[in-house]
Amino acid sequence: MKQILIKNAYVVSMNSERQIFNNGSILIENNLIKSIGKVDPSLVNEDAEIYDAGGKIVLPGFVNTHVHLSQQLGRGIADDVDLLTWLRERVWPYESSFDYEDSLISSTACCVELIKSGVTTFLESGGQYVDAMVEAVQNTGLRACLSKSVMDEGEGLPNQWIKTTQEELDSQINLFNNHNDTAEGRIKIWFALRTIFNNSDDLIIKTKMLADKYNTGIHMHIAEIAAENEYVKSSRGNSTVEQLHRLGALGPNLLAVHTVWLTDREIDLFKLYDVKVSHNPAAAMKVVLGFARIPEMLEKGIPVSIGTDGAPSNNRMDMMREMYLTSLIHKGRTLNPHCVPAEQVLEMATINGAKCALLDKEIGSLEVGKKADLIILNPNTIHSLPMHDPIANIVYTMSSENVESTICNGKWLMKERNVLVINENEILEKVKLQAEKIRKKANINLPSRFPVVDII
Ligand SMILES: [Zn+2]
Repeated sequence: MKQILIKNAYVVSMNSERQIFNNGSILIENNLIKSIGKVDPSLVNEDAEIYDAGGKIVLPGFVNTHVHLSQQLGRGIADDVDLLTWLRERVWPYESSFDYEDSLISSTACCVELIKSGVTTFLESGGQYVDAMVEAVQNTGLRACLSKSVMDEGEGLPNQWIKTTQEELDSQINLFNNHNDTAEGRIKIWFALRTIFNNSDDLIIKTKMLADKYNTGIHMHIAEIAAENEYVKSSRGNSTVEQLHRLGALGPNLLAVHTVWLTDREIDLFKLYDVKVSHNPAAAMKVVLGFARIPEMLEKGIPVSIGTDGAPSNNRMDMMREMYLTSLIHKGRTLNPHCVPAEQVLEMATINGAKCALLDKEIGSLEVGKKADLIILNPNTIHSLPMHDPIANIVYTMSSENVESTICNGKWLMKERNVLVINENEILEKVKLQAEKIRKKANINLPSRFPVVDII
């Protein structure tokens, strides 16, 4: 059996009492936490790896609850444009030009960026080549809830994405049967409804029935823009959330992403049905969706977590930056300095993320018997010292550059900034080549913002 003992650490456990173990230790055995706080030396085997954290901060790995692996190579193709241009003229043509190899490179690059920002679990909103995502997650050692984004109607869809309701349902079942609980249990297969613009009532009802039958989650963009509610009202007579309620689709296994345009009643419905929420502050600001009513949802006890969204809408997959924004934008909106304080933001990025992933019995906090998913933050940088108030420092001053090491399922994925699971330089080269190739294939031309002078 393999053991790692991390000692001399400032361990922020995020357990139910939110205990911090100053000068604490964690004993990892295989993929689980065997002991935490004060570790009895008799539990430590002779051949255990002993790692002295030198007083650095140990945290549960972050849970990023909204990721688009297949958009990673599209970073920068849709900046400073409105949402419909973003979607129909840039991201869809780009993403729909993908083949398996493109998707594998995109997914792998995204996983590496996630590892480097301290993420150990992520929830994928659903691209088209889920097999390639599975391969990337297998190779990079992360934990993930993967899904295929299903669409059976709607305007402007690329031809190759037009499928019948039954085809979309069958493909989800196949993926579930082939990949759920694979990669040492790190991969879960979820179902995913892209957005109500692209999902018939029939597809929504049947997806919910299947997710319940297979005991898995549903990932869906919900009430993303004001026009979405108007569209659903005119075509189906209700707002998105009211329509999902009517169809019986609200429930504890639904992850609602963005949720910018909710009424008081809809927030109450989320609470009543224990719906989970993914808040994506950078994307909401950048693609100008609006301010989600996150403080109101947190106040009611709705499990709200944090997601980055995809690379073209953020444009970083950086949970540390997202935590900072989460606190700031709601303080700015409410003009209340107590709104979404640092400790609540950290809960959103860890234990609430685990609840949203339906994995809070296994991850989200550092406790005996839970999975050994953790990160080490180095606070000794010029931008993060001094450390008068460590939890506030994590949220307000640190960035992903402070993430020094990442362990998932008891395995070092990154140690002292070296990614161990993959050759990072190789993937950088592939990203450059492939991203350009796909952009040409998709016929997306971006004029230079300033005049370029070629010097010969
Ligand atoms: Zn999204």
